[in-house]
Amino acid sequence: MKIEKVNISDSKAEIILSDVEPHLLNAFRRSLIVDVPKMAIDKVEIHLGAISDENGKTYESTTPLFDEVISHRLGMVPVPVDGKALLDGHMKMPEECDCAGAGCPNCQIMYSLNKRGPCTVYSRDLEPLGDEKLKPKDKDIPIVKLTEDEGILIYAIAHLGTGSMHARWQAVHAAGYRPIPKITIDQKKVSDPERVVGNCPKDVYEISKKALKAKNPEACILCRTCENEDISGKEAIKVDAETSRYFFKFETDGGVDPKTAIIYALNVLEARFNDFQVSLAEFK
Ligand SMILES: [Zn+2]
Repeated sequence: MKIEKVNISDSKAEIILSDVEPHLLNAFRRSLIVDVPKMAIDKVEIHLGAISDENGKTYESTTPLFDEVISHRLGMVPVPVDGKALLDGHMKMPEECDCAGAGCPNCQIMYSLNKRGPCTVYSRDLEPLGDEKLKPKDKDIPIVKLTEDEGILIYAIAHLGTGSMHARWQAVHAAGYRPIPKITIDQKKVSDPERVVGNCPKDVYEISKKALKAKNPEACILCRTCENEDISGKEAIKVDAETSRYFFKFETDGGVDPKTAIIYALNVLEARFNDFQVSLAEFK
C-alpha cells in the first residue's frame, strides 16, 4: 500500500492510495470507525434544589428538558483528547488504568456547567477542571434553553471509549473510499470540448492549448456523463475505474485529529494480525 497524496485538516482527511486491494481498505475503514478511541461524557451529576448566584438571587434547578435528555446531549458533545497521549498510551481506558477505573487524570476529564437563565446553554459553557485546551472543540452546540429564574449546575465526567461501545465514542465519521478513474480522451473524436467541460458536474475537465484535458481526475464520480456521444462525440472519452488506486476520505468530530486516528487504526490492525499469527503458530 502506497500513499500518493495526503490532505489533512483539523477534522478531515483525504488520501490517495495505490497498490492496495479493496478488502484491505475496508478493514482500515472499519478499524477507523470502531477501534479509534475518543473522550465522551459518560457520567453526569445534576444539582437538585435552589442555585444561588453571587448576589444571593436564587434560581430553580429546573429546565424545559428532562435530565436524561440533557445528559444524552452532553454525551454527544465532542470532547478533545491529546493525540500524543492517546498514541503513547498515557491516556487510558478506565478499565486499563492504574487507578482500576476509580478515576484519575490518566483516564478521565471532569467538567462543570453552571448557567442561570434567561439564556441558551451551549457546549462552550462546559468548563474543564484543569487544562483549558480540553474545552469542547465545537463551541456552538445548544444544550438547553433556560428561562427567567431557571438555573443549571452540572458536574460531568468524560472518559475514553470506542465506537464499538456507543456512537458517542465514535471518533471517525463518513469514512469511505472509491476507485480513482482512468480517463482516456481521443482528441480527434471530441466534437465539442466546451460542452464536455460545461456538462461535467465535478469540474474534472479543462481546455488547454485547444485540447480537452482531465485536469482533476480524482474528483470524478464515475457518472460517465462525458462518455455520452451527444456530449463528447462517438467513442471520444472512455472512463474506467482503476483497480488499485483509491481515493479515501473521512471526517472526525474534532475529538481526535485525523492523523492520530490513522496511526491508531493502523496500530490496532497490526496488533490484531500479529495476534492472529501467534495464535496460528500454536497450532503447528
Ligand atoms: Zn485512571
